[in-house]
Amino acid sequence: MPEWRKDPILERWVVIAAERGKRPSDFKVPREDRKGHECPLCEHREAETPAEVLAYREKESESNRPGWWVRVVSNKFPALHIEGRSDVGKQGVYQLMDGVGAHEVVIETPDHRKSLESLNEYQVGEVIRAWRDRSLDLRRDTRFKYIQVFKNYGNAAGASLEHPHSQIIATPMVPAYIMEKMGGFTEYARKTGSCILCGIIQQELRDSKRVVIEGKNFVSLTPFASRFPFETWILPREHQADYGHIREEQVGDLAFVLRSTLKKTSAALGQPPYNMVLVTAPVNLASGELVHFHWHIEIMPRLTTAAGFELGTGFYINPTPPEVAASELRGTVILCEEAFNNNIEVVEKYV
Ligand SMILES: [Zn+2]
Ligand SMILES: [Zn+2]
Repeated sequence: MPEWRKDPILERWVVIAAERGKRPSDFKVPREDRKGHECPLCEHREAETPAEVLAYREKESESNRPGWWVRVVSNKFPALHIEGRSDVGKQGVYQLMDGVGAHEVVIETPDHRKSLESLNEYQVGEVIRAWRDRSLDLRRDTRFKYIQVFKNYGNAAGASLEHPHSQIIATPMVPAYIMEKMGGFTEYARKTGSCILCGIIQQELRDSKRVVIEGKNFVSLTPFASRFPFETWILPREHQADYGHIREEQVGDLAFVLRSTLKKTSAALGQPPYNMVLVTAPVNLASGELVHFHWHIEIMPRLTTAAGFELGTGFYINPTPPEVAASELRGTVILCEEAFNNNIEVVEKYV
């Protein structure tokens, strides 16, 4: 049984999950050697995963059978378990808790050889809807205070299965990173009466030097204090605290901006491994719904390795100015959609 342990000095919780050591991994297996029929996330292999918690599937098709286009299942090797108590225990100076949480896998397509950005816009929209629908369902369990949607792409980014998928982990406490962001939003709102990210979006759209894609409802940009080379953020243009409140008319544009940003990143850098995290307001807070938050997606290509200085200080050294990264991404045009869908690199760059 996994266990939450709190750092006795910092507001930082760690999951001790011994079972995770047993999970299968396809590390070191080159992409082209990996056969789709060995993959538990592929269509026709539904019996190999835990039962689905959500599936968008053809009307006549049965649960846990083929006929789906997005499928969400519990993680077979979860970092956290749904059973257990969410109250904090003590061992001397230490605090700990049962390893309570939900850990789900969002299978983004039945097609093993695709990637998120090579799916068509409608299908990317369906993935976005699956994230929303699971976020709304998981919060009905009031033990959960934060719902983290994330994606690891490529071995170096921690992906242990190559089939296109993202993950959702619901946790019984608000992560320190989110607490820090909440503090920043609240403090700015207290001083100015407005939202810092709404202000940033307006300023960036005026300057445009760090804007990558300007959609109708969303904008992608390289943040002013980017931690990593080619880090991009995708933000809703209107103020919205909670990802779970994304409206149907926003979904299509998020699909367009997300897909285009990933395509440009992939084309500019040669399909780099990356992590993507959805940063949103906590749920089930005793203080009620949070207003001073502005949800967004952070995409971090893994081009550099965090090392001693970063681990010691939390300061990042980024060798690529975000203005340069944005200009490079804006100038990367994918000429041949079809070629891209087949993983053939046909790219022309101009500035
Ligand atoms: Zn597969
Ligand atoms: Zn805002």
